[in-house]
Parts: sequence; C-alpha cells; structure tokens
Amino acid sequence: MKRFLAAMLLLLCVTGCTAQPKSYTADFFAMDTFMSVTAYGVDEQTAQDTAVTCERRVNALEPALSRTREDSDIYRLNHADGAVCEVSDDTYAALQAAVEYAAYTGGAFDPTLAPLTDLWGINTENAHVPAQAEIDEALTHVGYQNIELLGDNQVQLKNGAQIDLGGIGKGFATDAVAALLDGSCSVLATLGGNIGAYGENPSRDSGGWVIGIADPDNNADYLATVEVRDRSVVTSGDYERYFEQDGKRYHHIFDPATGWPADSGLRSVTVIDAVSTRADALTTALFVMGLDKGLAFCAEQGIAAVFVTADKQVYTSAQVGEVCTFTFLGEEKGYTYAQ
Ligand code: ADP
Ligand code: MG
Repeated sequence: MKRFLAAMLLLLCVTGCTAQPKSYTADFFAMDTFMSVTAYGVDEQTAQDTAVTCERRVNALEPALSRTREDSDIYRLNHADGAVCEVSDDTYAALQAAVEYAAYTGGAFDPTLAPLTDLWGINTENAHVPAQAEIDEALTHVGYQNIELLGDNQVQLKNGAQIDLGGIGKGFATDAVAALLDGSCSVLATLGGNIGAYGENPSRDSGGWVIGIADPDNNADYLATVEVRDRSVVTSGDYERYFEQDGKRYHHIFDPATGWPADSGLRSVTVIDAVSTRADALTTALFVMGLDKGLAFCAEQGIAAVFVTADKQVYTSAQVGEVCTFTFLGEEKGYTYAQ
C-alpha cells in the first residue's frame, strides 16, 4: 500500500515545463518506500553523478537506521540486553537528533516506540488491536529518557527500551542528500513522504518547486500546493499505513502517552522546514498533539505547518506565509481553508 502511495506522490510542475535535457533521475527503493532523486546540472554527466551519489548515500543509511535488518546498528542495540554498544557516526547522529526532538516536543515524538509498533503489527500480516494489558506492558519500556548517549558513539538502552527511528529515518536521509550538494546541481529528492527541494528549479521562472499536499481521502489528488526553495516538505498522515478492524481504522502514528494510534481529529500534518529530520519529527509530534495544541506549539516555536482535520478543514500556522507560497485547492473536494 505504502509503496503504491509513494509512487503516486504528487510533485507538481505547474507552469512552463520544458524538457530538461540536463537532468537525471535515480529511482530506487529504500527504507520500505519508493524514492527518486532528480538532479539538474550543466551537463548530463554532472546531473547523473549527483543523482547516483545521492542514491548511494541513502542506500548506505539503511544499515544505520533500520531496526529490522539484522546487520543494522539499531538491531544490535535493541538486542544488546542493556549493554553499552558502539554505533556508527550516522546512527549516533540520528539518535542524537531523535532524543533532541523528543525532548523538544515533550515526548509527543518518541523514538522508543518499537515495542508498541511490534505489538500492533502495523504493516505486517499480523496487524491487530492488542489487549490493553499488552499495551500497558509495552508502555513500561517506552520513554526517550531510556536512551543514554555516552559520547564517542557509545549508546546504552535502559529499562528494556528499543529504538524505532521510523519517524525520522527519511528526514535524516533527506538531510544527508542536502549535505552532499555543492551547488553544481539543483536537486529534487522525493524520499517517500519526505521531499527536499534544493537550488533553483530550472522549469519555473520563479526558480521555486511546487509540491502538492495530498487529499487524505484520495492521495492521488491534492488539496493544496506549497512553492518552496531550499526547504524540505514532509507529510505524515493516517492514510499512509493502517489496518481496519471492526470497521475502525488503526494507523501507524502512536500517542506515546496511551499506546494507541493518535486519535487527535487530524488526517495529516505537513511541515515545511530547512531541516528535514526536524520536519519529520515534527509532523509525527504535531499529529499526536492535535490541532489546538499543535497550532499553539507552531506559533510559540515559529514552525510552518499545514493541518488537515477529519472534518475537512485546512489550517496553516502563521509561519507558512513566510517560508513558502501556499495555494489552497481543496474547495471542490469539500475542504474549507479555515485560516
Ligand atoms: P512515514 O513517513 O513512514 O509514514 P512518519 O514520519 O509518519 O512515517 O512516522 C511514523 C512512523 O514512526 C511509524 O511507522 C513508527 O515507526 C514511528 N512512530 C509512530 N508513532 C511515533 C511517535 N509518536 N514518535 C516517534 N515515532 C513514531
Ligand atoms: Mg515523521
């Protein structure tokens, strides 16, 4: 499902599109989703080299961030029974970011939800609603304070904690792509629901990149666009990974306070930020917080976010107008732009 949806991701080149002979696109599958990196350079070879280098960098991150691959640092850490482990630079940097954003969001984003994601089995054939006693037991191991970052790439997990970096992995990969760029190419990286748009878009006079925000009811369609430059645009939604039981939908964004899928009245949250890891953590956290708390958090912290509610209202934080051009297109689809 996720793969299909990722393939349908909307990247809109609205006006003035001309053929781009000096572009090269690398399409690949990583982190359980379809990805593509398009580079635009002075010549085809430069574009190809850049796109392929980006693809290699993302692929190399898989063993650093995955928790299911048995050769990954996170797998080793999760199965170390609380012993101190040495991890790679990338893994350590991702854990540092995860802990930082967990504290920043008051634990709404929490990278220690692995026991819960396992229990619910989202995206596996064993997806089901667990017994409350099982959820309560799993929650006793959850809490980002259980991650001890000891310096020199040494990490220790306390209290039976297990790491799941699914909430920031693609954001971290997008930032890794951005860090490779030296200005010789413009790059549009679509890593699942994480988009990074860097440099000037040669297809538009404005040089900006127009990115669609999906309609949660039909994510082959979109209900708004944002035009950005040198920014990442990240969306988390309840329509991305879920299962249904007894007519109710259970999705993959969990409220760490309850151990249940966040029931916050939101369908999706999009964050526009220069740092994709931060945007990725924030989409998850704001989804958990819900509209009122989420908008207040954005106002306080200067975060650009677009919220889509279950009752078809679209809200934007004040910062949105400062970092991008937002265009609402959802009226015909029954959405109202509330703010
Ligand atoms: P995706 O882009 O893969 O849909 P998201 O950025 O929306 O991912 O994050 C959801 C993933 O993050 C889940 O699949 C799970 O692995 C993990 N996760 C779920 N809830 C939380 C949370 N509250 N904090 C941190 N990670 C979470
Ligand atoms: Mg996220």
